[in-house]
Amino acid sequence: MDMDFTAADLAFRDEVRAFLAAELPQRLRDGMTGTPSVFVEPDIGLEWQRILHAKGWLAYHWPEAVGGTGWSPVQRYIFEKECALADAPSLSVLGLRLVGPVIAEYGTPDQKARFLNRILTAEDLWCQGYSEPGAGSDLANLKTRAVRDGDRYRVTGSKIWTTHAHYADWMFCLARTDPDVKPQAGISFLLLRMKQPGVTVRPIITMAGDHEVNQVFLDDAEALVCDRIGEEGQGWTIAKFLLENERGGGSAAPRLIAEVERLQRLAANQPDGFGGRLGDDRATMERLARLKLEAEALEITELRILAELAAGKKPGPQTSLVKLVTSTLRQHIDEAAVDLFGQDGLQLATERPLYGNESPEPIGSKAAQMVMPTYLNSRAWTIFGGSNEVQKNIIAKTVLGL
Ligand SMILES: Cc1cc2nc3c(=O)[nH]c(=O)nc-3n(C[C@H](O)[C@H](O)[C@H](O)COP(=O)(O)OP(=O)(O)OC[C@H]3O[C@@H](n4cnc5c(N)ncnc54)[C@H](O)[C@@H]3O)c2cc1C
Repeated sequence: MDMDFTAADLAFRDEVRAFLAAELPQRLRDGMTGTPSVFVEPDIGLEWQRILHAKGWLAYHWPEAVGGTGWSPVQRYIFEKECALADAPSLSVLGLRLVGPVIAEYGTPDQKARFLNRILTAEDLWCQGYSEPGAGSDLANLKTRAVRDGDRYRVTGSKIWTTHAHYADWMFCLARTDPDVKPQAGISFLLLRMKQPGVTVRPIITMAGDHEVNQVFLDDAEALVCDRIGEEGQGWTIAKFLLENERGGGSAAPRLIAEVERLQRLAANQPDGFGGRLGDDRATMERLARLKLEAEALEITELRILAELAAGKKPGPQTSLVKLVTSTLRQHIDEAAVDLFGQDGLQLATERPLYGNESPEPIGSKAAQMVMPTYLNSRAWTIFGGSNEVQKNIIAKTVLGL
C-alpha cells in the first residue's frame, strides 16, 4: 500500500488551493459554516455547483465517458480535503453521487443523454424515494406499488424522510412492480416527475427547526416505462449499487479534522467561567485532541481504501466501517462543541437561514449560535444511509463471519 502523494499529486493540490482562493466567494464559505442541517440549501450549494461546473471540476465521481474529470481516487481525495479546509459548501449528493452514477452505469444511451447533463447544470434537482413508513432498514419490505399501464406505470404509495423533495424536479424511487415473487426480485428502479398531479410533498420539520426532509405521497402518479432504469425487477441490484456509492469511497475525515481544529481555535479564547480560558483547561483540550486523533485515524483508513480503489479493487465491508466511525465521531464532535460554549451553546434559533444579513442576532457569538441546531440535526448521521446497528450487522456478517 502506497499512501504518499506523488509530485504530480502535490502540484494538483496547489492548483486546487489556488482555485479555491480565487473562486470560492466568502459568502458561500459563510453559508457553509452557517448551515446547521445535513445538506446545504440550494442558494449556497447550487452556486458552488455552477462555479465548479464552469471549471469542469464537478462530475469527479462520474466516468470520463459521461463528463467525469478523469481524476484518480487520490486526486478526488485531495480535492475534497482542500474544499473542506476552505469551508466550501458540500455538494448535494442526490444527483451527483447517487442517481448520476446509476444512470451512467445502468442507463440506456437515451437516458444518459436526457438526464446526465441536466444534473450537472442543475436544471434538474433530484430526490431519493427509497424509505417508506414501514420500510427503512428493511428496505426490501417496501410497499409502494407500480402497475404497468401501456407505456407508463401508475405509482401509488408513500415515501418518507425524502431529503429536499420540496426542491426536486425528479424522484428516483424503488417501487414494487411484481408482488408475487420474493420481495427483492419484485422491485424496479423508476424515475418520476415531482411536478404532476399525483405527487404531494408534506414537510417534516426537524427538532432544530430545519425543513430538510419530507413525506411524499404518490397517488396514481405517473412514471414512464422509458424512464425505468435497468430491467423490470432489477431495482434491488441497482439500489445496492447506489447505496455502496452513498456509504463509501468518500472522504469525510478532512471535514471532521477541520471542524475539530476550529473548535481548538475557539477554545483558546472561550472563557472557562472562572476567569481563565478553556484553551488552558487540560480536560477540554485533551478531549479535543482525542477527537482529532480519531479523525486522523479515520483519514488513514480512508486513504487505505483509496489506495485499494486506485489499484482497481472494489470497496468491501470497509464502507460500513467508515460509515459507522464517521457518523459516531461526527456526533461526538458536535457534543463537544455544545459543551464548549456552556450556556450560550444552549440557544436554539429556529429562524432560517443562519447566514446572511437577515439571520437572527446570536447570543454570545455566531459560533455559539450554530452548535445546538447542529447538534440536534447531527442525530441523523447515525440513521440515514443505513443506521449504525445495520452497519454493525453487515460488519458482523462479512468481517467477523458471525
Ligand atoms: C435526515 C435524514 C435524511 C434522510 N433522507 C432520506 C432520503 O432522502 N431518501 C430516503 O429514501 N430515505 C432517507 N432517510 C431515511 C433513512 O435512510 C432511514 O431513516 C433509515 O434507513 C432507517 O430507517 P427507519 O427510519 O425506517 O428506521 P427503522 O428501520 O425502523 O429502525 C429503527 C431502529 O431499529 C434499528 N434496527 C432496524 N433493523 C435492525 C436490525 N436488523 N438489527 C438491529 N437494529 C435494527 C435501527 O438501527 C434503528 O435504531 C433519511 C433519514 C434521515 C434521518
